[in-house]
Amino acid sequence: MDLLNTLVDKGLRRETPTREEALAVLATSDDDLLDVVAAAGKVRRHWFGRRVKLNYLVNLKSGLCPEDCSYCSQRLGSTAGILKYTWLKPDQASEAAAAGLAGGAKRVCLVASGRGPTDRDVDRVSDTIKAIKDRHEDVEVCACLGLLSDGQAERLRAAGADAYNHNLNTSEATYGDITTTHTYADRVDTVHKAHAAGLSACSGLIAGMGERDEDLVDVVFALRELDPDSVPVNFLIPFEGTPLAKEWNLTPQRCLRILAMVRFVCPDVEVRIAGGREVHLRSLQPLALHLANSIFLGDYLTSEGQAGKADLEMIADAGFEVEGADEVTLPEHRAAAGGGGCGSDAQKAGCGSHAGGGVCGTSEASAPAEPRTDLVAVRRRGAGTDLAPNA
Ligand code: SF4
Repeated sequence: MDLLNTLVDKGLRRETPTREEALAVLATSDDDLLDVVAAAGKVRRHWFGRRVKLNYLVNLKSGLCPEDCSYCSQRLGSTAGILKYTWLKPDQASEAAAAGLAGGAKRVCLVASGRGPTDRDVDRVSDTIKAIKDRHEDVEVCACLGLLSDGQAERLRAAGADAYNHNLNTSEATYGDITTTHTYADRVDTVHKAHAAGLSACSGLIAGMGERDEDLVDVVFALRELDPDSVPVNFLIPFEGTPLAKEWNLTPQRCLRILAMVRFVCPDVEVRIAGGREVHLRSLQPLALHLANSIFLGDYLTSEGQAGKADLEMIADAGFEVEGADEVTLPEHRAAAGGGGCGSDAQKAGCGSHAGGGVCGTSEASAPAEPRTDLVAVRRRGAGTDLAPNA
């Protein structure tokens, strides 16, 4: 297919595709799906080989958020039966992080619900970063605490944070449809603050919220413009008790097309499959490893993922390898660029919160998506509980 040859050539040259080309990827038929995966897989292997970076989420503070992000189980008014707790103590967070690192993760993502941190919260997180780094010198730490005020990114950087995650989630045109308590511009501003403080910026999207193909392309092009080092791609988990509970719009094939489009638009960036991997990709998860070079190990913020052991087996069975702590994630030109570079001392991240996790003007060839509420399990183990974490 001429389209795919063109996109591979552009991806290898780090050239931006046209919007029409990105839209055409989303519109490909199921008959062409494996060709799309193979083409985007060439770009993935060119920049990242067969390495898969593992990231581990620690939910420092769960639920009770005053913001109204409609996709989020922690939002104002959510009746989802999630764990609710206030700040974990540094040693508790460090303990949870240790489980993920023992499981093979090289990055820990410290996430807290809320509009944004107070200065006291930044102190708490700084103490937590220290507690983790005292035990694990080489770990990458990403903070995901919501909207940042002036000076907070610098303080987190000084405390040892390598990266900051704040997702754009969806297009600027539709942002007001999913959240009313803050704006798209607020989110862009926080990504800029992270960049300016020398933190590796991590910013991504949520597919499956009822957006059009054009919105997905808009947000991915906006991300390319922002130039984060990592782009987490969430697939909406339609939690019962949230406004988007009925939005079961994604098929595994659709998810693969979205990941391929993101890879073609952001060829040399760490593309991470985030929330909703098991729920929406299901048995096609291994194919997604040909597109993304990064996943979360184990559980998510408020929902359970497949067993960490199953993640590792999937990676090995698909012919990929877990990226080691001594390996640099990003291609040399990005790792050397300073604003971030996984494996360097300024890394990237991606957390499913403050961006949670799609319709999609989906390809006509895909079968309609069926609700799979049986696959959504509220997290009942790990951080905030007495049970061992999944790692
Ligand atoms: S995404 Fe973040 S800011 Fe929005 S409701 Fe959830 S926890 Fe609050």
